[in-house]
Amino acid sequence: MYHYTKIHKMQSRRSFIKNLALAIPAMSMASVMLSSCSKRDELPRKTRKRIGIIGAGISGLHAAMLLHENPNFDIEILEAGDRIGGRIHSMDNAFGMGNVELGASEIYGTNNAWFGVVNRSQTALLASQGAATYVIGESVYSQSQIEKDSDFIQMERQLTELKQFQSGSDMSIEQFMTNNQVPERVKCIFEGKTEQFLGTTVDRASAVYNRSEGIEKMSEEKYRSASKSFSNILLDNYSSVLPYVLNNTAVQSIDYTGNKIKVTDNLQVERVYDQLIITVPLSILKLSASQPSGISFKPELPSSKREAMDKLGMDAGVRVLLKVNKKFWNNGSSTIYTDGTISRFEVIKSDDSKSQYVLSASVHGAKAETTLNNMSEAEIVRMIKDEWKASMNSEIANSIVDSKVIFWGKEAHIQGSFSYHKVGGSTESRAELARPVENRLYFAGEACNTGNNSGTVHGAIDTAETAVKAILKQLA
Ligand SMILES: Cc1cc2nc3c(=O)[nH]c(=O)nc-3n(C[C@H](O)[C@H](O)[C@H](O)COP(=O)(O)OP(=O)(O)OC[C@H]3O[C@@H](n4cnc5c(N)ncnc54)[C@H](O)[C@@H]3O)c2cc1C
Repeated sequence: MYHYTKIHKMQSRRSFIKNLALAIPAMSMASVMLSSCSKRDELPRKTRKRIGIIGAGISGLHAAMLLHENPNFDIEILEAGDRIGGRIHSMDNAFGMGNVELGASEIYGTNNAWFGVVNRSQTALLASQGAATYVIGESVYSQSQIEKDSDFIQMERQLTELKQFQSGSDMSIEQFMTNNQVPERVKCIFEGKTEQFLGTTVDRASAVYNRSEGIEKMSEEKYRSASKSFSNILLDNYSSVLPYVLNNTAVQSIDYTGNKIKVTDNLQVERVYDQLIITVPLSILKLSASQPSGISFKPELPSSKREAMDKLGMDAGVRVLLKVNKKFWNNGSSTIYTDGTISRFEVIKSDDSKSQYVLSASVHGAKAETTLNNMSEAEIVRMIKDEWKASMNSEIANSIVDSKVIFWGKEAHIQGSFSYHKVGGSTESRAELARPVENRLYFAGEACNTGNNSGTVHGAIDTAETAVKAILKQLA
């Protein structure tokens, strides 16, 4: 659907003003916290509060940074994995063509904290725009060709209707597609356009609630980092709190029966905190204590929180990266829609002089769970080759020269892509999930976002700010 164009930092006066506006909320939050770190040592240890943060994804790191700026707090970040970043994870020099993102890859819009972080990191930004190539049946259409296609015109109209959809009774997006008679031939485009923002397949997502949370993101401007990887941007931006991250420390139990909260990890080491911020993914929080990677709570979390979690889903997600040596899409388009198993690819690296390109696809929900998760990387590549051979030709099928597949659902401490509203859910589910327990257990992370920004990096940052503000208010 769009093509990436290089823009430079603070390119125009308009973007300068936008960026300045962005910086102000971040600065004012920091100034609330502002007191130099050296002041921490002047305060007696017993008057300082020990805050434990579970998870060193973006929300955990951001909460840690805000708290660390205040000398009244000692922080510790417990991270199950051997790296920071969680669902932000970059691969250096992939396929000899530079960094690629294995998880979050795009920044949605400019008016948010994540855009601010990336923009300040001295990387050039690539803005999305432009056209796509469509492979349907045995035909390949350019953007201008497909825009004259009556099925496509009807499908686009129905996509607009979905963006405005309001109904007394909820239904799945698939049901919406059936009710509105999205033409069979172009259903794959409808799915390709929506599913990457839903984090699941259309049969599982609520048409009412994912309209505002997922589908809205389709209309946002999108940016990629041209030179610096997101992982390196995290390392720079959160350098002040990296010494407080304890990697390979998977929390197994949280006991908040006494005055202090006792947290026990996989090596049975017990740590004690005054307050705790829990940022583990929804998929992990949903697990029972007896399941691998599950966390036990003593006392149990309120049943209202468990009920809210049941109304939210977080499904398997698979990122497929392919290096190809033949350009079969039209010049000027960097998205390819197909009616194969993978309905949308993006061209994320291009070197026309060497005829080398990297395509990236995200598959979520039922397709990831029932199809790709049961295949090896080699089988997935074979399947794509067979589909491309059938719809295009064997030369294009054989243009795949290298690959990498990441199964997010199989990552022990992530177990999925991002959260979405199941049919019959409500926006209250996220508010309930985020609600602190006894003003001692605080919850953050993308699934807790109540401002329609769940499933995003900037949405996760917002939840960290909310949790930290609540702690400050509580301790004021
Ligand atoms: C394939 C994919 C594509 C995406 N694309 C985009 C995109 O383009 N743009 C965008 O804005 N967002 C995108 N997202 C979503 C974005 O990555 C997330 O919303 C965001 O990174 C979530 O941050 P978080 O802090 O809430 O959770 P996480 O990053 O998941 O951090 C939680 C951390 O908790 C740790 N943890 C879990 N259990 C334990 C335990 N028991 N003890 C200690 N630590 C534990 C985990 O290891 C993890 O590091 C994408 C996500 C995926 C998977």
